[in-house]
Amino acid sequence: MDYSTPLTATRRRILVTGGAGFLGSHLCETLLRAGHDVLCVDNFYTGSKDNISPLLGNPLFELMRHDVTFPLYVETDEIYNLACPASPIHYQNNPVQTIKTSVHGAINMLGLAKRVRARILQASTSEVYGDPIVHPQVETYWGHANPIGTRACYDEGKRCAETLFFDYHRQHQLQIKVARIFNTYGPRMHPNDGRVVSNFIMQALKNQPITLYGTGQQTRSFCYVDDLVAGLVALMNTPDDITGPINLGNPDEFAIADLAKIVIELTGSRSTVIFQPLPSDDPKQRCPDITRAQQQLGWEPTIKLRQGLVKTIGYFDEQLKRGHLAAIGTAH
Ligand code: NAD
Ligand code: UDP
Repeated sequence: MDYSTPLTATRRRILVTGGAGFLGSHLCETLLRAGHDVLCVDNFYTGSKDNISPLLGNPLFELMRHDVTFPLYVETDEIYNLACPASPIHYQNNPVQTIKTSVHGAINMLGLAKRVRARILQASTSEVYGDPIVHPQVETYWGHANPIGTRACYDEGKRCAETLFFDYHRQHQLQIKVARIFNTYGPRMHPNDGRVVSNFIMQALKNQPITLYGTGQQTRSFCYVDDLVAGLVALMNTPDDITGPINLGNPDEFAIADLAKIVIELTGSRSTVIFQPLPSDDPKQRCPDITRAQQQLGWEPTIKLRQGLVKTIGYFDEQLKRGHLAAIGTAH
């Protein structure tokens, strides 16, 4: 099965919350290319106008500054609910707002979907598995999350959002799609958002020390943004009986110490590695089982880590040379 082409070839009105963020801006671009009408809603908490400025001249694209913790009244056929800071540093900066964004945001977007009978997709996360004991993570695993830790504002907010999605589905027959997204990287990541790929690349390009947290033996699996966006669109276009949750991510697993070595090699950097304390509740291992995505969406990632890193390094390098990076995230 391949659901990358929409069920109907007709133009649809599509709302993307968090559309000015890293993933959201790539998604808006893809949907516009497919000929849809795109309404991007964002409060620019972690997103940036720079991410979507190339889209502003497109008559099918509309931008609305709005915080999803407040109700939204628009007409739409589909909703991709991506609004939420994703990097641990950003989501822990204002944890109460993070929970409100996940929970109130989900209630508001589900309420909107119910009123206009729109199909709605939730950008959930591998963080719902917490510090997982089952490895690789399958969708049937209920997870091992600390409800009172520093990551809980994100993990539990996203878990509650999933609960809301399934309750709206059961109670109001809403057409829902829940994607559990694993670590994704690529151009337009915020250079200072503290996530490992952007941190390591920025540090390497500046020949600054690479900050390895803990022993560096913890693992992650990194998906290139183009693969991930293709997975989201494929999921949205599945028949009604496919609700998810569905893991979307790249199953190639790497120790963080090895990621540091690869980034140093690919950038030709003079950086050395320094060890810093592991943040609390940092998951020790993470890798998606993508059997369900392969079977139900006909989807799997195509871009290998080194290939994706070369593209991402190219992006950051160019931005640095143009002196653009200082401006990213400040165009609020
Ligand atoms: P991002 O921080 O770049 O994008 C999030 C966007 O949401 C930003 O533009 C931000 O301004 C906006 N936003 C935040 N709070 C808002 C609010 N209350 N109202 C309106 N807009 C708001 O992060 P991203 O990496 O693009 O992540 C997008 C989504 O995907 C998030 O929901 C995240 O939880 C999920 N996700 C991402 C990853 C990843 O590796 N990138 C992994 C798992 C899940
Ligand atoms: N990490 C690191 N150095 C950094 C940033 C992150 O060693 O400068 C580690 C972090 O402790 C975690 C992994 O890299 O084990 C991935 O971190 P990230 O914040 O990108 O995402 P997470 O998967 O933890 O949400």
